[in-house]
Amino acid sequence: MKFRHHACAFILAAAFAGAHAQGAAPVTPAASASLLAQALALSDGVQPQVVEWRRHIHQNPELAYQETGTAKYIAQALAGMPGVEIRTGIAGTGIKAVLRGALPGPVVALRADMDALPVEERNDLPFRSTAKGDWLGKQVPVSHVCGHDTHVAMLLGAARVLSSLRGQLAGTVVFIFQPAEEIGPGLGKSSGAMAMVREGVLDNPKVDVVLGQHISNQAPAGAIRYRPGPMLASIDVFNIKFKGVGGHGAAPWASNTPMLAAAETVLGLQNIVSHRLNPTIDGGPTIVTTGMLQSGNRFNVLPETAEISGTIRALSATNQKIAQEEIRRRATGIAASYGVQADVKIDSGDGYEVLVNDPQATLSLVGAFGAAAGSASKVSQMPASMGSEDFGAFGSTGVPVVFWMLNASPMGDKDGPVNHSPLFQVDESAMRVGVRALAAATLSQLASAKSAGR
Ligand SMILES: [Zn+2]
Ligand SMILES: [Zn+2]
Repeated sequence: MKFRHHACAFILAAAFAGAHAQGAAPVTPAASASLLAQALALSDGVQPQVVEWRRHIHQNPELAYQETGTAKYIAQALAGMPGVEIRTGIAGTGIKAVLRGALPGPVVALRADMDALPVEERNDLPFRSTAKGDWLGKQVPVSHVCGHDTHVAMLLGAARVLSSLRGQLAGTVVFIFQPAEEIGPGLGKSSGAMAMVREGVLDNPKVDVVLGQHISNQAPAGAIRYRPGPMLASIDVFNIKFKGVGGHGAAPWASNTPMLAAAETVLGLQNIVSHRLNPTIDGGPTIVTTGMLQSGNRFNVLPETAEISGTIRALSATNQKIAQEEIRRRATGIAASYGVQADVKIDSGDGYEVLVNDPQATLSLVGAFGAAAGSASKVSQMPASMGSEDFGAFGSTGVPVVFWMLNASPMGDKDGPVNHSPLFQVDESAMRVGVRALAAATLSQLASAKSAGR
């Protein structure tokens, strides 16, 4: 994931009350309370193993679609859990593990992403990464500075907990370990989530809801933030190449100056957001930013080419499409006014659309989050973010999804270095809450989906 997380919007007064207000989980209270208590105790007990798993994966990070060692390690860990059926090699390195409860019921999927980033870690840790990997044909340092090592470890922890409880579970749990969340648009490859969806990861058994969590640098560690509806933005990468007639700097009239067309286009894109997009529709905000402008290499030579590149981030699929059309229209129109050609490419990638949490399912989990965090005061609703995630790809099939954030700042009441920073670190104690959240949310969904007759 690529973004800065935001501060809490508000604190819920009573997590369980909130859940009931949304009509969640009218199951036998004693039975569900007992099962939840067992799940939370087992989650606490598995914490030392979760830390060990996490440190091994942290020290052995692998880049997108290269997670072979990670997948092997995960499969070995899952093999020791009773009742878990494992299928490997989905979308390359992806793993799907299925745990069937003793009783019939709905199918809840839990997802973790496995890939690391081409970033050199600068943390002074005994398990610091010194790994290298191939990124776009170059050997580069690799590290888990987005915390996907913790996601894998926490999901393994939840699998162990739920495996221990399988005799009491009414329904099926599917554990998804996906490759290549970080691949992003622009490289011509599908995101790992989309690739697994295409290979049928949500079928057989047919999944009713997909749950996922992301660790963040925010304080306080162990707090949980959620958001019903649009939560994370889509990504587009745009690239525009201008081609015209170059010349001598002392005779500009003989050139048609593609550089000027590029510069004017950079400015021309700026009012798309202010004047062409409706901020009140769908999820609302959309951003258009230009991050690259290149042309020429000498003061008295007018170049015959210029290039700009940037990104669209949208919480509204409608605004995303309008922004794409406006970028094309403006670039080609401005270029034409100079007599210059503009070649516009916009790549939305495959699997990076707006992440929209199912509102009802999200709100029904607030009580489970409170139980996991130990207090309703540690659970809050967050604002949407313009960062992106491929978790939304699971939702693109029509299956409801719920994604939440787990705070894990290692710096007390201050936020730590942001995800993707070479100094990104987590407070490992937050993983205990993460395992509890996955287990409690699963039990809640099994119960509420059953009551909803799904
Ligand atoms: Zn990331
Ligand atoms: Zn991430």
